[in-house]
Amino acid sequence: MNSETLLALDAQHVWHPYGPMPGTVEPLLVSSAEGVRLHLDDGRALIDGMSSWWAAIHGYRHPVLDQAVHDQVGRMSHVMFGGLTHEPAITLASNLVDLTPEELQHVFLCDSGSVSVEVALKMCLQYWRSVGRPGKQKMLTWRSGYHGDTFHPMSVCDPEGGMHSLWRGVLPEQVFVPAPPADFESGPDESYSRVLAESIAEHADELAAVVVEPIVQGAGGMRFHHPEYLRVLREATRANDVLLVFDEIATGFGRTGTLFAADHAGVSPDVLCLGKALTAGYLTMAATLCTPRVADGISRGELPVLAHGPTFMGNPLASAVANASIQLLHDTDFSSAVARIGAGLRSGLWQARDVPGVRDVRSLGAIGVIELDRQVDMAVATRVATERGVWLRPFRNMVYAMPPYITTDAELAVITDAMVAVAREA
Ligand code: PMP
Repeated sequence: MNSETLLALDAQHVWHPYGPMPGTVEPLLVSSAEGVRLHLDDGRALIDGMSSWWAAIHGYRHPVLDQAVHDQVGRMSHVMFGGLTHEPAITLASNLVDLTPEELQHVFLCDSGSVSVEVALKMCLQYWRSVGRPGKQKMLTWRSGYHGDTFHPMSVCDPEGGMHSLWRGVLPEQVFVPAPPADFESGPDESYSRVLAESIAEHADELAAVVVEPIVQGAGGMRFHHPEYLRVLREATRANDVLLVFDEIATGFGRTGTLFAADHAGVSPDVLCLGKALTAGYLTMAATLCTPRVADGISRGELPVLAHGPTFMGNPLASAVANASIQLLHDTDFSSAVARIGAGLRSGLWQARDVPGVRDVRSLGAIGVIELDRQVDMAVATRVATERGVWLRPFRNMVYAMPPYITTDAELAVITDAMVAVAREA
């Protein structure tokens, strides 16, 4: 089938993320991807500034990852996980337990980030029911958060201007506190810390858990907050008998410079959600980790099982590539790579500070952001970036990039130049 026919069929039949009805968006047709480049059907190659939405941390077609999938296909691609188990999933669970704080000991391997948040919230609710406190069924979260598109995760996303405001009235009602200030470098703000601690104390009797994205509020505005707020959350949740859930679906596996974003604060949650870069973007998989307290509480309850069991749970292909990716993170010294990319983003984006309409330029780890005082025109942004050989996907008033860790300094300069051009023109 030629490109025109494929794109016509796409427009006719295929939903894309956050797309309006088919026919009104014009996606680019990708035929292959290698290293940091997406190869388009029309012969162009674009450097992927987005790592396929945080996921492709080692780039595309990495020989080690390709081999891991290939080897696993030769054994089995999938078997049901009910009543059966296998080496790739067992190894992955132990790898995740080893990588994360030692309090986290139990791993639920599911198939997407939203489901891992769904499972996390279910674990918390079920824990409190099991230990005889069914009144604790609300989540406290901060505004500008984002945790996924299924119903329970949507309830802890920003209820105002966010993507899910349409569902007000249908979603479970949660407790919202103001978003943390974007003060990773300049904070912490003691009065904000007090608001957090007081809100948790005030609602303690009805709270099952506090659920937040540590350090980086992603889809809610690419805002970076001070680690102190995570320590305040940990202290206040402990003092008030509330569970703490960290959603590290976007930040996990090195993106912020530390293996997990909460490492900046040295804080361990009761429940941790991972996804995206877990399989380096190769296959769809996410994970929810919890402490023995949560797992044991659930198993002492009236329904002594966690009633969740997706068909593709523990998928062997995804587990095998996740194990290979974790090994690569160690072998390639990810923290130096992320520091180098951070330096490149900072120096390349510096020029944007003087561009009219630029409100802020910031970076953290291997994430760079130009915030504008207006909405980005997506069509213009795509044209301007692709003309410069770069794939970007600005969002609202943000032009941002989180490139693969293998991106070279020269490629980074191309990405940052394209970002500045988008900030000027789109
Ligand atoms: N939580 C966070 C912080 C995310 O960034 C995302 C994905 N954008 C999700 C949850 C949902 O993950 P998924 O898209 O894999 O369902």
